[in-house]
Amino acid sequence: MLTRDIPQEEKFGVIQSIMLSREAAQEQKLASMLLSNTALSGSIPQEEDKKVSIINNMLLGRNNPHEDKLAGMLQRNKEWARKVRYEQPNFFSNSAKGQSPKILWIGCSDSRVPAEQIVQCAPGDLFVHRNIANLCLHTDMNCLSVLQYAVDVLKVEHIVVCGHYGCGGVKAAIANQFHGLIDSWLCNIKDVYRANRSHLEAVEDISARQDLLVELNVGNTVHNVCHSPVVQAAWERNQPLSVHAWCYGLEDGLIRELGLVVSKKNEVEAVYKMEVIDKTLSTKASESH
Ligand SMILES: [Zn+2]
Repeated sequence: MLTRDIPQEEKFGVIQSIMLSREAAQEQKLASMLLSNTALSGSIPQEEDKKVSIINNMLLGRNNPHEDKLAGMLQRNKEWARKVRYEQPNFFSNSAKGQSPKILWIGCSDSRVPAEQIVQCAPGDLFVHRNIANLCLHTDMNCLSVLQYAVDVLKVEHIVVCGHYGCGGVKAAIANQFHGLIDSWLCNIKDVYRANRSHLEAVEDISARQDLLVELNVGNTVHNVCHSPVVQAAWERNQPLSVHAWCYGLEDGLIRELGLVVSKKNEVEAVYKMEVIDKTLSTKASESH
């Protein structure tokens, strides 16, 4: 049938479906091109029937290892929720009522250092902030907001800064390769290097030097957390709060305490101490919630 024989109102629909079927054919063609390209590399069998089924799977979004992984995650989530409900029937109803974690965890985004898993904590136990190389910068609204909420509202009693040996962010910071945007972030670790250059360069083994920088970087984050107005105001109103330096070993799964714990304002270096003149300022933030 020619489109001129179709009433005007139906024409658009017909043209659309023709176009859509053309698009589908185009997609098949493109997928086939891609498949042929891959087949040329010798990784996929070339028989026609197999090829068609692979193309169909590709178009349907199947046969994609990432899709399988996501489906697996969703399936495991169902199994996990079922197991938790079986073992602790009130767990989710209690969880939905609110959170009251007593620990803020500041860690690295590295997929191998999942906070709750490595310290066997349950949902609700940790308030977590993670970024590349576990930094707390004085201009990072994300980290500072997490910090304020944790201290002023949740009233956490401990802040754990946990770095890890073999940290890719620290390794990249010690090297001189250009990476683009992330170099601005890594510059903060380079600053730690510069401030401790003589100690670091006294260590000849590069891997040991990286480990030392990992530890110094954790220490620097602990200091930045302690220098923040949020933490100083909490100490000013005598809120119990300790900041700890930890470091996780990828090779043995163990956490080392780095021997740095700060619990009071007088443990902070003099220049960073803030004297709260108007005492109401230190309580206003927490009272307003
Ligand atoms: Zn890392």
